[in-house]
Amino acid sequence: MYSCMNRSRFLKSLISKARSFARPGGLGSTLSQPQPQPSSLTSAFSSSAAMNGLETHNTRLCIVGSGPAAHTAAIYAARAELKPLLFEGWMANDIAPGGQLTTTTDVENFPGFPEGILGAELTDKFRKQSERFGTKIFTETVTKVDFTSKPLKLFTDTRTVLADAVILATGAVAKRLNFVGSGEGSGGFWNRGISACAVCDGAAPIFRNKPLAVIGGGDSAMEEANFLTKYGSKVFIIHRRDAFRASKIMQQRALSNPKIDVIWNSTVVEAYGDGERGVLGGLKVKNVVTGDVSDLKVSGLFFAIGHEPATKFLDGGVELDSDGYVVTKPGTTETSVAGVFAAGDVQDKKYRQAITAAGTGCMAALDAEHYLQEIGSQQVGNENGYCSKL
Ligand code: FAD
Ligand code: NDP
Repeated sequence: MYSCMNRSRFLKSLISKARSFARPGGLGSTLSQPQPQPSSLTSAFSSSAAMNGLETHNTRLCIVGSGPAAHTAAIYAARAELKPLLFEGWMANDIAPGGQLTTTTDVENFPGFPEGILGAELTDKFRKQSERFGTKIFTETVTKVDFTSKPLKLFTDTRTVLADAVILATGAVAKRLNFVGSGEGSGGFWNRGISACAVCDGAAPIFRNKPLAVIGGGDSAMEEANFLTKYGSKVFIIHRRDAFRASKIMQQRALSNPKIDVIWNSTVVEAYGDGERGVLGGLKVKNVVTGDVSDLKVSGLFFAIGHEPATKFLDGGVELDSDGYVVTKPGTTETSVAGVFAAGDVQDKKYRQAITAAGTGCMAALDAEHYLQEIGSQQVGNENGYCSKL
């Protein structure tokens, strides 16, 4: 990562997504409110029939999301001839279709790309592979669901989907802090020393043998600080209080690591550059008890202040944990609702990697296929095949 190409490539990816958005069949201009729909698919009506101003689609499987989890699920499901519909979102959670990987540059830990690959390129490849096997992709955000009866219902601003099974793969967003120098573009050091993923970015050359800092006091902060000691000369944990909330064992690991120092009761108020290469050079750190502001020279700053899973649109439709993640039955991708499966970061607060998201995407497709067989869901022919019958 950390090439100056990041922003232009990201913009290029946005423009290409915007073009597909403008295609016929992309998000239209009418924004009608979703209307109640019939409760059974047995009265199968043809896909894309206009009902109450919304286009209605019947499908055996609807996938929501656009990262590695959603596309891996789509590739497996399409190859199993389930003819999935996939909603990739349009700037859902302020992220371009393609998910979190579109916000980074080089991805160096995804197998198959020994030289690394740009995040936006990798997600474009996922998308092409999904389409190649017959996934129908809509560049629209699912705004509402109704999983209280079968068929399962999903709504966008222009469509209603009646599905026999659903895979939720809407991911999560790493929380970021907003202070002088924390942003992107001119005067900001985001992706030029500031990151929200130590495991993803920590091995970059600009961090090697340099002092680094992590903000946070939870398990992620402890884990990331320990991880970064492999690369940095020193790692400072900057925490806003005088106690960590992390589990005792994780705290102990961090506190006993000789390369880690904790700066308690403190917040970062400014990031500044190194004056030469335009990358991060240091931080102004404020002690919230005394009000004193001190200087901390670091080449890397990692936010570890939690993630926000993209589950608001579910509005209680499936069981969530206290942090808002979808709860899945251990060892499976099954949620609290029969026929609804979840994959990727939306149900994973521990690993949060592209490859683990892809792995659970595969599991979700296999679980969904098995479920559809069990309930006797079959495809019925129509002009474009996106139709099902229970
Ligand atoms: P996401 O990638 O989170 O994508 C989900 C997407 O679904 C959303 O972004 C949005 O576009 C769409 N969506 C959300 N809600 C809706 C909705 N209601 N309707 C329709 N669509 C919706 N991992 C690595 O393995 N290697 C790395 O080098 C790496 N680098 C990273 C760098 C950064 C800066 C970040 C933030 C993360 C990085 N990660 C990396 C982590 C990796 O990106 C995630 O673990 C992975 O992308 C999670 O995939 P996912 O499929 O669960 O969903
Ligand atoms: P948490 O919500 O547990 O911790 C977030 C930390 O960031 C807190 O210490 C919080 O401070 C701090 N913070 C939040 N907002 C701000 C802010 N605006 N400014 C400064 N600091 C801020 O998130 P985690 O990602 O650490 O963990 C999420 C969940 O994932 C937990 O359940 C955790 O146990 C789990 N997890 C488990 C791991 C493992 O077992 N290996 C690894 C990683 C996560 P404060 O304490 O003052 O609120």
